[in-house]
Amino acid sequence: MYRLTQFDLLTGLPNQALFSDTLAAELRSCRQHERPFALLQMNIERLSEINDALGFTQGDQILCEFGARLREAMPDGAFVARLRGDEFALLLPDSDRASALAMARRLREVLSQPVQLVELPIDVSTRTGIALYPDHGSTLHDLYRHMDIAVRQAKKQGVDCVVFDPALYPAPSHRLNMAGDLRRAIEADDLRLCLQPKVDMRDGIVCGAEALVRWQHPTRGLIPPSEFIELAEQTGLIRPLAEWMIARVLRLNGQWDDEGRSLPIAVNLSARNLRDEDLVDKIRQMLAHWGTANGLLEIEITESAVMEDADFALRVLHGLRAEGIRLYIDDFGTGYSSLSYLQKLPVGCIKIDQSFVRAMAVSSDSAAIVRSTIDLVHDLGRKVVAEGVETQQHWDALCALGCDVAQGYLIARPMPAEDFPAWVDRYRPIRASDPADKHGAA
Ligand code: C2E
Ligand code: CA
Ligand code: CA
Repeated sequence: MYRLTQFDLLTGLPNQALFSDTLAAELRSCRQHERPFALLQMNIERLSEINDALGFTQGDQILCEFGARLREAMPDGAFVARLRGDEFALLLPDSDRASALAMARRLREVLSQPVQLVELPIDVSTRTGIALYPDHGSTLHDLYRHMDIAVRQAKKQGVDCVVFDPALYPAPSHRLNMAGDLRRAIEADDLRLCLQPKVDMRDGIVCGAEALVRWQHPTRGLIPPSEFIELAEQTGLIRPLAEWMIARVLRLNGQWDDEGRSLPIAVNLSARNLRDEDLVDKIRQMLAHWGTANGLLEIEITESAVMEDADFALRVLHGLRAEGIRLYIDDFGTGYSSLSYLQKLPVGCIKIDQSFVRAMAVSSDSAAIVRSTIDLVHDLGRKVVAEGVETQQHWDALCALGCDVAQGYLIARPMPAEDFPAWVDRYRPIRASDPADKHGAA
C-alpha cells in the first residue's frame, strides 16, 4: 500500500504526494533553522508528440530513462520525484540561486543525452523552472505555483532554464485587481496607440508602421505592454484589447488616407486572438464599418502563436489574407517552425527577431543565421523585416545582406500616434555609410 500511494509505478520515483510531504517537512525545518533551499521542476518537451508518433510504450521508456538519470545525477540529500505526466521535481536543500542554476546545468547535460529507443536515438529536451525558499514563497502552494510559472516562462522564452521572478508575477489578488483595472481602462479609452516606423532599406523611405499599445494608468503612469499583455491573454481581455487597437488603427488609416498620406499599419495579435472563432468576421465588419482601403491594415503574429495550433491558425490566416490583410510572422527564429513550414503560410513577410539582429554584430553564427534566413525567405518569394535595428553598423550589415525593411531605435522609437505624421515630415532617409569613410579616406 505504501509503495502504491507514495511512489510512481512507472519510474519507481517518489510521487507528488510523497514529494509534498517531504517538502512540507523541509519547510518546517528550514523555517526553524533559517536555511534556504531550492525547488527545480523539469518538464520534458513534447512528450505527447513522441507518444503520438511512436506510441506510449516508447514514451514510457523515455520517462523511465529520465527517472533513472535524475536519480543517478542527484546529489546527496536531494529529493527527486515524478510529479505527473512529463513533470519531474527536485528539492535541493541548502541551495541558493547560484547552486540551483549550477544543478540545472548539470542535469541538462545528463538529460540531453539522446535516449536510445528500439533502434532510434531520440533527442529529448527539458525546460527547467526554479523557485527558491524563502525568496519566492514560504508555503507549499506558493512554491509549487512559482516553480510552475518559471518552467512555463522558460518554455515561452525558448530557454533551458528560468528562475522565478517575483517582479513579473505579483500575487494573484493583485493580478485580479489589475485585471479589473485593465478592463475598465479598455472601456474608458485609457489605452494609448503608439507607432513605430518601418523603412524600406533600398531607399530609406518610410513604408509603414507597427501599432504598439500602452496603458495610461491613473496612478502608475504609462505602463508598457510587457506588464499587461500576458494578463490580458489569461483573463480574456486580449479580445477587447485587440478590437480597441484595430478600431484605432482603422480610424487613423481613414484619417491619413483623407490627408493623402496613406501608410499601412500593422497590429499585433496574440495566440489567444487567433483561437477566437469570430476574429475574421469581426475584422471584416470593422473594415466595412470604417471603409478602409485594401492593404492599409496589416497583422503581425508571432511564430509561436502560429505553431501553438497550426491547423486552426492556418485557417484563420487564410481568412485574414482573404480580407486583403498582409500578414507578418513576428519574432521569427525564436519558435520551432521551420522555414519549410513557412511555405504553407499565407504570409508576405517575416520579421527576424531582435536578438539575432543584436547578436549579428558580435557573433558570426548569428550573422550566418541572419544571412541564410534572408536568402531562404527571398527564395520563397517573401520579404524580410529586421527588428531592433539600433545602430548604423546593423543597418550597413543588413543592407549588405539584402534585407528589405528595417525597424528599430536607429530610425525611431515608438511614439504617440498623433506625433507620427510630423515625424515622417521631418525624417531624413538613412543611407548605408560609405565604406571609404570607415577607412578615413576622402
Ligand atoms: P514586438 O511585436 O516584437 O514589438 C517590438 C518591440 O520592440 C516594441 O516593444 C518596441 O518598442 C521594441 N523595439 C523596437 N525597436 C527596438 C530597438 O531598436 N531596440 C530595442 N531594444 N527594442 C526595440 P513594446 O512596445 O514594449 O512591445 C513589446 C511587445 O508587446 C511587442 O513585441 C508585442 O509582442 C506586444 N504588444 C505590443 N502591443 C501589442 C498589442 O496591441 N497587442 C498584442 N497582442 N501584443 C502587443
Ligand atoms: Ca510585432
Ligand atoms: Ca517582434
